[in-house]
Amino acid sequence: MAKEFVKDITSMDEDFAQWYTDVVTKADLIDYSSVRGSMIIRPYGYALWDNIKNELDNRIKETGHENVYMPLFIPESLLQKEKDHVEGFAPEVAIVTHGGSEELTERLVVRPTSEVLFCEHYKNIIHSYRDLPKLYNQWANVVRWEKTTRPFLRTLEFLWQEGHTCHATDEDAHEETTRMLNVYADICENILAIPVVKGRKTEKEKFAGAKFTYTIESLMHDGKALQSGTSHHLGTGFAEAFGIQYTDQEGKLQHVHQTSWGFTTRIIGALIMVHGDDRGLVIPPKAAPTQVMIVPIAQHKEGVLDFAYDLKESLSKVARVGIDASDKKPGWKFNEYEMKGIPVRLEVGPKDIENKQVVLVRRDTLEKVVVPMDQLESKLVELLDDIQSNLYNKALKHREERTSVVLNFDEFKSTLETKGGFIKSMWCGDVACEEKIKEETSATSRCMPFDYEQLSDTCVCCGGKAEKMVYWAKAY
Ligand SMILES: [Zn+2]
Repeated sequence: MAKEFVKDITSMDEDFAQWYTDVVTKADLIDYSSVRGSMIIRPYGYALWDNIKNELDNRIKETGHENVYMPLFIPESLLQKEKDHVEGFAPEVAIVTHGGSEELTERLVVRPTSEVLFCEHYKNIIHSYRDLPKLYNQWANVVRWEKTTRPFLRTLEFLWQEGHTCHATDEDAHEETTRMLNVYADICENILAIPVVKGRKTEKEKFAGAKFTYTIESLMHDGKALQSGTSHHLGTGFAEAFGIQYTDQEGKLQHVHQTSWGFTTRIIGALIMVHGDDRGLVIPPKAAPTQVMIVPIAQHKEGVLDFAYDLKESLSKVARVGIDASDKKPGWKFNEYEMKGIPVRLEVGPKDIENKQVVLVRRDTLEKVVVPMDQLESKLVELLDDIQSNLYNKALKHREERTSVVLNFDEFKSTLETKGGFIKSMWCGDVACEEKIKEETSATSRCMPFDYEQLSDTCVCCGGKAEKMVYWAKAY
């Protein structure tokens, strides 16, 4: 393709932030709204979210959960019931003070997350061990008053699901925390082709009010990390604050053990920054709203459009297929669907029809193949599979190339500056070291991975005895 077709996207190497902004707007994912930090998710962006949502919702239901809906507003006093929780969220809550022209007797918080609403409800409906477990999930919007915002990555309002569960024992809650983290990892790796590191957050980085937080972390093209999903073991802290108790089989009153877990529209930001290139989006086939776009060539010639529509119909059995039969030039269409990251373009013109073949162009490598009509269905399925795994492998290779083992603080700073990416190192466990690293390098601890490696015996920051291994990175 000629270079002039892509001139309106800033190149990634020149200015990654601008590239990102160009892609989200020019690929028609979003538009800005008149409210600072809020975005309009356009049909193409929403179709992408719908696919992710459906895949996740199926898995949430397959693991025994039920969907519910909680109110948007939280009485301020309710949010204040769990001390750590309110401290964690206070700086970013939006508060309703008036209803119509009347000042409210109690201010209402617009939900930043719904733990306290679930807790209040659970207190009312859980009485006996027979009521457990309670496995609820809700799909909703939440509001967090962020100072700096970027489409998908950080917006005042975003869409997500939040799971909230109650269990009889600590082990059951722990199992649930792990189970849902694995569901998130499965969505990332097998649908979105984004490799993740699974691990546990440090005390400093865990969810406000949780016993501990599990996370999946992924690495973007520019070497910055992105937290891609979190699952929290809440222990009995919320249950104690809200009085959620059940009578066990011996007739004794016990507090429930809770979890919560969330996955958001942020993941679309990750998808863009892991797979995108200078031509725009690259969407893995399993997540793509349209997997194949048919572009008829010389469509004014007799029979071409009919042939193209017949193709669309027959291929729809094996893939999500679109067709652009508008009077725009093929070159414009090629550029447009490359920008939108559609995995495969199918070109068909009079000569192809005569020769009983079509041309398939894959978005990830831009390779062209001529495919005989009688092999088209099977070749197409193969091609989509190949694109899916190629994107995953490419992202994994990138992450591996940009993951460094670092043993001392000087090397930490220089590696972060020259190479970026993930830094694996040992840590003594002292929050002072974690804070010093953040202050001096702006890297944060991403997680203590489940796959532990004993890299050395000493803390990368203070040189003291260290038994914890941490992934560090600058992060979105
Ligand atoms: Zn230390």
